[in-house]
Amino acid sequence: MSVIVRFAPSPTGKLHVGNVRTALLNYLFVRKKGGKFILRIDDTDLERSTKAYEEGIQTDLSWLGMHWDSTFNQSHKFANYDSAAKRLREAGLLYACYETAEELDKQRKLQRVAGKPPVYNRAALELTDEQKDAYRMEGRLPHWRFKLSGSVVTWNDMVRGEQSIDTSSLSDPVLIRGDGTYLYTLPSVVDDIDAQITHVIRGEDHVTNSGAQIEIFRALSDHLPTFAHTPLLVGKDGKSLSKRLGSLSVEQLREDGLEPMAVCSLLGKIGTSDPVEIRTSIEQLSEEFAFSKIGRAPARFDEDELMMLNSKLLLETDYNDVKDRLDNLGVEGGERFWNLIRANIDKISDAVSWSVMAFAPMSGQIEPEDTDFCALAADALPDEIDADSWSKWTAFLKETTGRKGKSLFMPLRMALTGRARGPGMGDMLQILGAEKAKARLKGYSG
Ligand code: GLU
Repeated sequence: MSVIVRFAPSPTGKLHVGNVRTALLNYLFVRKKGGKFILRIDDTDLERSTKAYEEGIQTDLSWLGMHWDSTFNQSHKFANYDSAAKRLREAGLLYACYETAEELDKQRKLQRVAGKPPVYNRAALELTDEQKDAYRMEGRLPHWRFKLSGSVVTWNDMVRGEQSIDTSSLSDPVLIRGDGTYLYTLPSVVDDIDAQITHVIRGEDHVTNSGAQIEIFRALSDHLPTFAHTPLLVGKDGKSLSKRLGSLSVEQLREDGLEPMAVCSLLGKIGTSDPVEIRTSIEQLSEEFAFSKIGRAPARFDEDELMMLNSKLLLETDYNDVKDRLDNLGVEGGERFWNLIRANIDKISDAVSWSVMAFAPMSGQIEPEDTDFCALAADALPDEIDADSWSKWTAFLKETTGRKGKSLFMPLRMALTGRARGPGMGDMLQILGAEKAKARLKGYSG
């Protein structure tokens, strides 16, 4: 049996680290097993769904290196949902309810006061035809609930192990609203049957839904996917990310200059028994993927860790893989310069300021007490700089001035680069060349 999975975002907002992790886990699993990855656009909510969000989702997944084998919109499948609803109605499993939202609210309050769980009381099942007619005459439109069996639904979850949901503790779920629109529950099952989805991999906020959905699967077909519910993401402080998800959109990470494989490495590893380390390809991540490695505790998402992975990734990135982007950013100096600065940047765009520093005119930063020292250093610098120049030059300056350690090196670094930290000065001096270096040491622009 070949694996078929789906990622099913609603195009009512931007993809964020939480939902894109679900996409990634589906993707890593299917790439490991061989099979199909379907992108299902859950746009049954026609008012809140937009094409712009839908395109954004596609851009984000492509940027991260996730390619779908097929895609479809739920808004094109209403006929399927209608015929599934008809079958459920005919089987006596989908029933019309006429309560208003206020009435249901009042009912729940009374249940709470009486110390009972706020489960729908199924009063609608008792309505006579006359009562239903009377409601319709009043102008009430029915919403439709699925009749749960009231028994315990069990499944073997690939992350959570044996699961059981007692459906007698749940309200019969509303599948169709009064205005005729579908809630998520039924369309998802109909599509999972239609596409013969073998594994439903999603966040653990859907565990209870699964109890009801498994009963709907059984009512409609012989097909039942295997389920995997993964713990949700939390911040590094262990707190929910829900309020911060807006700023943790994939688009924002891209704009912040993060590399897709840094994002995938983090999201593919947090919450698993593997260490969080940089991986340079999705293939590698997928080879290492296993549901058995996913723990039950929430996965901690830490932006600082993401940035650290990003800089580690850049350190391992070959010039040819970034040449075009460096060219677009106007970074000069070719491969040699890239190899020199890549250990000193968090993001590709940080290369710009190093390039400006090395290749554009700039005057060095010299403290008043170092002016004479730097002038002497300028005079002592040979006209031809080679790989040994830095060590010979600084050895000479040490001997001549008696300076050593920080007081020897820091004024030179500050005068030549304007920064207290950065790449190795032996290479940097060669890149600058004698003329620039001398000018900067003398306090001129060079
Ligand atoms: N559109 C649903 C969501 O984003 C899909 C859930 C599922 O994977 O079944 O929550």
